[in-house]
Amino acid sequence: METYDLVVIGSGAGLNVLKYGLQMGLKCALVEDTKIGATCLTRGCIPSKVLVHPADLIREAEHASKVGIKFRVEKIDWNLIAKRMWSQIDENIVIEESLSHVENLMLFKGNGEFVGEYEMQVKSIESGKIIGHFKGDKYVIASGARSFIPPIQGLKEIEYITNENFFGDKFPEKPWESLIIIGGGVIAAEFAHIFSAFGTKVTIVEMLPRLVMTEEPEISTFLERNLKKYMAVLVNHKAIKVSSNKKEKQVTVQDVNSGEKKDLKAEEILVATGRQSNADKLKVKNTGVETDKHGWIITSKYLETSKPNIWCFGDANGLYQFRHKANYESDLCANNIFGPESEKREVDYSVVPWAIFTSPQIGHVGMTQEEAISKGYEIFVAVKNYSTVAKGFAMGYNEDDIDDGFVKLIIDKSYKLLGAHVVGPHAALLVQPFVYLMNAGYTCDSPEFPARTGPHKLGRSCPEAGSFMPVYKSMVIHPSLNEVAGWAIGNMQPVNIIMKNHEHHHGE
Ligand SMILES: Cc1cc2nc3c(=O)[nH]c(=O)nc-3n(C[C@H](O)[C@H](O)[C@H](O)COP(=O)(O)OP(=O)(O)OC[C@H]3O[C@@H](n4cnc5c(N)ncnc54)[C@H](O)[C@@H]3O)c2cc1C
Repeated sequence: METYDLVVIGSGAGLNVLKYGLQMGLKCALVEDTKIGATCLTRGCIPSKVLVHPADLIREAEHASKVGIKFRVEKIDWNLIAKRMWSQIDENIVIEESLSHVENLMLFKGNGEFVGEYEMQVKSIESGKIIGHFKGDKYVIASGARSFIPPIQGLKEIEYITNENFFGDKFPEKPWESLIIIGGGVIAAEFAHIFSAFGTKVTIVEMLPRLVMTEEPEISTFLERNLKKYMAVLVNHKAIKVSSNKKEKQVTVQDVNSGEKKDLKAEEILVATGRQSNADKLKVKNTGVETDKHGWIITSKYLETSKPNIWCFGDANGLYQFRHKANYESDLCANNIFGPESEKREVDYSVVPWAIFTSPQIGHVGMTQEEAISKGYEIFVAVKNYSTVAKGFAMGYNEDDIDDGFVKLIIDKSYKLLGAHVVGPHAALLVQPFVYLMNAGYTCDSPEFPARTGPHKLGRSCPEAGSFMPVYKSMVIHPSLNEVAGWAIGNMQPVNIIMKNHEHHHGE
């Protein structure tokens, strides 16, 4: 039986580790059951953002009336929008072609499953035939996740949309007349924004009390209020039954508090109720890799699985399902696989940022207020609205407007930054400086403390590292939106800080 030095499952962030293996001259195999480039390139981040941007422009044009300009959207050229989107997805063909010429690499296009210790079989998706059977010295599982399909009565019997078939054979020829979105998380919020802007009558059905549950409650409320300008949002409503006839699809929803039921009708249904692990397809148990009770692969701080010489990262470990987090882990994992034992690095998820590209946009890094308090921190929060800075006003945001977004900072009593949350235009850009600051190091380790080994970041500019002091001491370009974030600190309020003799502590 053929044996590879390195087998990588998944061609998303998995390609990053594969590259290192190939550079080292290892005999490698790549296993992928869908398009090369995987979720982010072919059915996730990238094609969705090609659709988000035109939707943003529509909403911005509408907002322009607040500053004295009236635009009319004359035409939505769906064909051009679609063509631009497919041009990105189709990059997978170019990547696959170039991979097929790489020396020392065997590409298996099919579903890989473990059939024994370090032993794998690959079956073609089309024919079901076995197209590969081999062993690997080292495995990297970067097998990602797929749409979770909830057990709703009737769902198995009808056709519906997920992100997988939307960026596939169910991509509509024109925006649907009406769309019911089951789920109220990140993907739901992005699709709701896209299609409502393109004229689709959208209804969101979420069984939890609020949208985007990962965010601060006031950000969820703010988003819900703003989305409701353009669509129906039913929180606390559970989709319990679906059906379909030639003309339309129907979703029966039930109010989780009153038990009251009602029927919703639309041309199409999008199911966006979270993600599920692909470890089942991979049959990881056959090689002794353990999963948690939800099926996510358990990884150590070095991204090892429970089985020696099998590593895992990205969506497959169920933690923070974002492409930049998968990329970060892929570099760290490559270091731990191929680097010297003494330079092994530990993962650090304390500063994982993300954005939700809905309308208004949301940016997030670190802890929410509730998370910080529940972890035992004594904190300040600082909130500042866009309307309170000159640029915000210039952009048409006034106090008490329902779309007057804000920045909320979560700060430890030592002034260490614990989290930053933004909702409003350019939220992703406004949150990023806090990511850099938070990564600037928290501790005052001595210079001889070996870099990259410990759990702490090296404190280069101690004691201010990781605190908001560099923001406080910096000039902020005037008048720019940076002032919303930079000047938020001026509004710092203690939440649960027990003051001792009115003393403030700087640093740790
Ligand atoms: C609609 C949508 C929008 C998103 N937008 C963003 C965004 O804006 N920003 C962001 O950071 N993240 C976004 N994400 C999340 C992001 O796409 C993922 O976090 C990222 O792609 C994960 O990368 P990965 O390498 O871990 O897994 P993947 O990219 O999913 O790669 C894993 C691949 O392995 C394949 N595979 C699994 N099991 C097997 C098997 N047994 N045999 C063969 N192949 C197998 C899978 O089919 C898949 O193609 C979005 C996701 C979706 C769905």
